[in-house]
Amino acid sequence: MFNSCRRPLSALLLAIAVPTFAADKTKAKTVEDTPSAVEQSQPATENIDLAMYQRIREEGIEHSRIMQYASALTDDIGPRLTGSPNMAKANAWTRDQLTAMGCVNAHLEDWGDFGMGWQQLNTWVRMTSPDTAVFIAQATPWSPATNGPVSGDVVAVNIQSDKDFDQYKGKLAGKIVLLGEMREVPPVDQALFERYSDKELEEMASYQANDRAGRDMQARLRTYMQRYKLADQIADFLAEEKAAGVIRPSRDAKNGGGSGGTIFDDNGAALGRQPYLADHKVKVPVVVMAIESYGRVSRLLEAHVPVTIEMNVETKFTGDHEHGFDTVAEIPGTDPKLKDEVVMVGGHLDSWIAGTGATDNGAGSIVAMEVMRILKALDVHPRRTIRIALWSGEEEGLFGSRGYVKQHFGFASPLNTPDQAALPEFMRKTGPLDLKPEQKLISGYFNVDNGSGKVRGVYLQGNAAVAPIFAQWIAPLKDLGVTTLTMRNTGGTDHLSFDAVGIPGFQFIQDPLDYESRTHHSNQDVYERLQPGDLKQIATVEAIFVYNTAMREQMLPRKPLPHPELRDQQNAPLPNLFPGAVPPADEKK
Ligand SMILES: [Zn+2]
Repeated sequence: MFNSCRRPLSALLLAIAVPTFAADKTKAKTVEDTPSAVEQSQPATENIDLAMYQRIREEGIEHSRIMQYASALTDDIGPRLTGSPNMAKANAWTRDQLTAMGCVNAHLEDWGDFGMGWQQLNTWVRMTSPDTAVFIAQATPWSPATNGPVSGDVVAVNIQSDKDFDQYKGKLAGKIVLLGEMREVPPVDQALFERYSDKELEEMASYQANDRAGRDMQARLRTYMQRYKLADQIADFLAEEKAAGVIRPSRDAKNGGGSGGTIFDDNGAALGRQPYLADHKVKVPVVVMAIESYGRVSRLLEAHVPVTIEMNVETKFTGDHEHGFDTVAEIPGTDPKLKDEVVMVGGHLDSWIAGTGATDNGAGSIVAMEVMRILKALDVHPRRTIRIALWSGEEEGLFGSRGYVKQHFGFASPLNTPDQAALPEFMRKTGPLDLKPEQKLISGYFNVDNGSGKVRGVYLQGNAAVAPIFAQWIAPLKDLGVTTLTMRNTGGTDHLSFDAVGIPGFQFIQDPLDYESRTHHSNQDVYERLQPGDLKQIATVEAIFVYNTAMREQMLPRKPLPHPELRDQQNAPLPNLFPGAVPPADEKK
């Protein structure tokens, strides 16, 4: 997913300086008379409770329950595709676990009609001639079934543009289609598992204003759309030509991690755009295959050796209009002045299908649950309410967190202009923000969604005013490896839904481990890839951040409200800038 654009530093600092209003201390604050967080002046020195730091460390590291949650979620429930029966199980299980640990008001919030429910029951692919071989492959998300094993001669198909279709017309009925070119398979000559060096963290802390962000975005969206439009056409063409099944090569990954039997099985592998919508249903069975298996077949075909493959894809659709749900629960605030204000913690609970969604994002979900368990076990009495949210629909477009933010805090409606209408809603330019009163009551939202690597710092998402605050919060955590703050944004996940409506939303800098190189959306995304020591550290650090936010006098400082509708003007070229410019004839009129 995408990086959000950034704002000039100076405007930020200006906003923070404005003094607070004189309020009547006795009366519980209502939304109207809560001076907005931007107006609260911020103290230079944080009043942190180091004794509580010690207690949270103790509970989070010495008495952790996080790997118990990990096994129950990944081994017992398994992969949690949005809309699927496992997703429903996970929503119910997390709600009940949060109730069991003492949280209140644990419930599921409906964010709307997602699309089709689907699950993979069984998939196998084998070569039957010129040799017998068992291949590593799985169904792609929302693939239809083969309705029993199908066998056929294999035909290599490579369609890069409209003009490539005709050559295959009338040649694919009953065939197994090898879709896409064989790619390079680089040697794994670098570690798949990595941690940030101090030098890399220093480099990350330096902040380089990126002046191309806005301009790239629309161009990248157009390429994205062209690619998906062609994928839709290919899916329809292969169905019309009555291909028996389709095999796609698994993509590569960082440091050559896309080999060794690893398959990446997400919307990138699926055929067609938004294949979870009933009116976008893919009509031909599609599997993604390990590159080594794919290579053998591809080379045989290139050598004009006929190949026969038998494949069995057993999948099940469980409904066309499954709704999506977020799990929400709370530890109520106790301070009459602040209890209506909230700090949120969370991550997405949904996952892809080839593994058990352990590092993406079982890790972020069990960390958030463990944060709540640690704070309940310590019987803390937060001044502000602490609320956990476990989202679904993240992998398909942040649907769960966007839906929640829309229902509670505000929303900027996607534009329907001709140049935007072809894009999925979550990618479009938007109109002005329409905020709700609750938007003023959320101090901040903390998200974990970069695997199970330990916290090394925080992405400040362009919020310079919060830097000196977090710097004081992390100082006592240096021994745990938490050292770095960067003004940079990080994209592609649920904190963006909060950032989009002006609520401080943060992701932590995490050690990369083998997330990008092996586990992210792959069949290797299983319990064994979770690092217990790292997960205990993440939960401990996040519990401290949540506790500090719940206890401090002021809300966390905010960036000025975004004005998505002004984005073009804000980047527009300055008019009449060049004294020597001669305007073209048609502009003269
Ligand atoms: Zn994720």
